[in-house]
Amino acid sequence: MELWFTEEHTDFARFSIKVDEHLYTGQSEFQRIDVFKSKEFGTFFTLDGLMMLTEKDEFIYHEMIVHVPLATNLRVKNVLVIGGGDGGTVRELTRYDTIESIDMVEIDQQVVDVCRRYLPQTSCKLDDPRVKLHFEDGLKFVRTKENAYDLIIVDSTDPFGPGEGLFTKEFYGNCFKALKSDGILVNQHESPYYEEDAKDMQRAHKRIRELFPVCRVYQAHIPTYPSGHWLFGFASKKYDPVRDLNEQAWNALGLKTKYYNTELHKGCFALPTYVLELLANA
Ligand code: SAM
Repeated sequence: MELWFTEEHTDFARFSIKVDEHLYTGQSEFQRIDVFKSKEFGTFFTLDGLMMLTEKDEFIYHEMIVHVPLATNLRVKNVLVIGGGDGGTVRELTRYDTIESIDMVEIDQQVVDVCRRYLPQTSCKLDDPRVKLHFEDGLKFVRTKENAYDLIIVDSTDPFGPGEGLFTKEFYGNCFKALKSDGILVNQHESPYYEEDAKDMQRAHKRIRELFPVCRVYQAHIPTYPSGHWLFGFASKKYDPVRDLNEQAWNALGLKTKYYNTELHKGCFALPTYVLELLANA
């Protein structure tokens, strides 16, 4: 008997991975959590049936969500991560000795517990002494913060269920307030390709653009996300990610990466025409 995981990317398109073993299934207060083992993508985990990460391609997402803002401003010291319960974003952040504190706000403690058990590849740095875990709603957490962070990374699920509030104008406004005067906000920005995802992407872009003087979008190729074409938002009060790229200083750190490099950093802000049009019309 064959076992396959299938995610519906639209009503008319699906993506499947052959499963060797269903390692875990559980229902938390917020969502259903599943962990699978596969030959092609290694161990992977899903929330409410949607792909979160696979061992094989998570490096792309996590390197791009972290090294793009850090190479733009290497003086980042205090970081807030919203979501990111698998720990991949924190793992990449802890590679910078210059970072002093990382607050990770994850609504669902069960995600962290499950990832610690089945996905040590991403959760391995959650016990770094600079990391403080807060199990609460990111929307509420950020309301009370002012002038506190150099960088906020929104590593959230999609804009429904618990993640819905993390795509609202109120949330982005509170992020603006929580950032210092040269602060940067990076968020997972959905995909431009399928119509429904593109609408979410446009809505997020419109809201962020209304608040931040610098508002850019960059792309990466992530094989297991819908369409494989994924976007990230880069918003900031001061830094432009291409103009202010600190190429020499970042390369001098000698960090070994598999996807990110400073040439790609410049290139990932060059977007296809249809994406530019979607953003302009947002
Ligand atoms: N890379 C993934 C992707 O784009 O599919 C997302 C990774 S991470 C697992 C997303 C996390 O955001 C989940 O663990 C989820 O529990 C958390 N999350 C969703 N809504 C949240 C909220 N309002 N506050 C804090 N964390 C939230």
